Amino acid sequence: MGFRTDTSLPIARAMTSDDTTPLESIRTRIAKAADIADRRVSDVTLIAVSKTHPAEAITPLLEQGQRAFGENRVQEAAEKWPALRAAYPDVELHLIGQLQSNKAAEAVALFDCIHAVDRPSLVEALGKAMAAGDRRPDCFLQVNIGDEPQKGGCAIADLPALLEKARAAGLPIAGLMCLPPADIEPAPYFALLAKLARESGLTGLSMGMSDDFETAVTIGATHVRIGSALFGARGVAA
Ligand SMILES: *Cc1c(COP(=O)(O)O)cnc(C)c1O
Repeated sequence: MGFRTDTSLPIARAMTSDDTTPLESIRTRIAKAADIADRRVSDVTLIAVSKTHPAEAITPLLEQGQRAFGENRVQEAAEKWPALRAAYPDVELHLIGQLQSNKAAEAVALFDCIHAVDRPSLVEALGKAMAAGDRRPDCFLQVNIGDEPQKGGCAIADLPALLEKARAAGLPIAGLMCLPPADIEPAPYFALLAKLARESGLTGLSMGMSDDFETAVTIGATHVRIGSALFGARGVAA
């Protein structure tokens, strides 16, 4: 994978040698991957994962036309995004991290899409929060695709029951989401998620990050979640 941000430059002005911005470079790579798979690039949403990065690092992307952003903490998003949204009202905010049930109402109020719905208690909390107000963010069910104990996501065997419960609770289910195991070829995991989505009658596939988004796009990703390739490395693990 060729693209690297030169971290010696200020993030906002990080450029590749030919003066394309990181965002332009990622867009081009997504378009090439879509083309290889005979897919329309308009069917792939690039989510710029801005977790841990301050508003000053986000504004240059907004100025370049990027509108979908991902955060993994409700609290951090609540602090950063109201002001940015006031300036760019058409921003689309995605919650990509684990969500505690007691923050469901706040998440429903703040986000347009919730990617890590992975257990019945959270489905119930989101259903209640949506019923109580007028906001119904799209939801992705997260699958623990590599069956890893430390990762979120429902077990593959539990997916049909979770989907049924989510539909009964009135959640708008857009598709499935996964984080494949690290340090191993991700394609088989992406393909498995795509198969599970097909079997469930779902079209959305939230998969692919900085190191593997092109592979994900060729296998059918509709949402890629890209952080470090756009913003540079994060200071703290998040
Ligand atoms: C941080 C994060 C990403 C982005 O990761 P990068 O490797 O920086 O692109 C994507 N998805 C989730 C769930 C994340 O927490």
